[in-house]
Amino acid sequence: MLSAFLVPRIRSTKHKAQNAKHMKFDHIGIATKSIEEGLAVWRDVLGLEVDSTEEVTEQGVKVCMLAVGDTHLELLEPLGPETSVGKFLAKRGPGMHHIAIQVNDIHSSLAELKRKGARLIDETPRVGAGGCLVAFVHPSSVNGVLLELVQHQ
Ligand code: ZN
Repeated sequence: MLSAFLVPRIRSTKHKAQNAKHMKFDHIGIATKSIEEGLAVWRDVLGLEVDSTEEVTEQGVKVCMLAVGDTHLELLEPLGPETSVGKFLAKRGPGMHHIAIQVNDIHSSLAELKRKGARLIDETPRVGAGGCLVAFVHPSSVNGVLLELVQHQ
């Protein structure tokens, strides 16, 4: 399903169109030292509205979703310095962390990515923000971008 991201070879227009139909942007993840610090910019300066806030303890983050049209901006506050977002902030500071694409069947997407040699961070999906199934693909397989696959339940 995500072959266009991983295999830089020419495919027919028809093939691309079929893939694109099943995918759409779900959200963009932004690492921030605190949700309040993020809201000071994205809500207070840019005027975005908060949709939901929750703690996803399995992923070591507090998450705040802001609506942008029919997609979202996801503010990520680490629950501690040893979490993946905590380490990201220590290394790079606040900023864009990942992009998330919605898929219909995350299990088959992961199987296809694995078959095509992508480096999966999550071999099997886990429960993410909003009770969605999520799985991350390593930036080394996706043009330097940390990619999150999301399947809404
Ligand atoms: Zn995300």
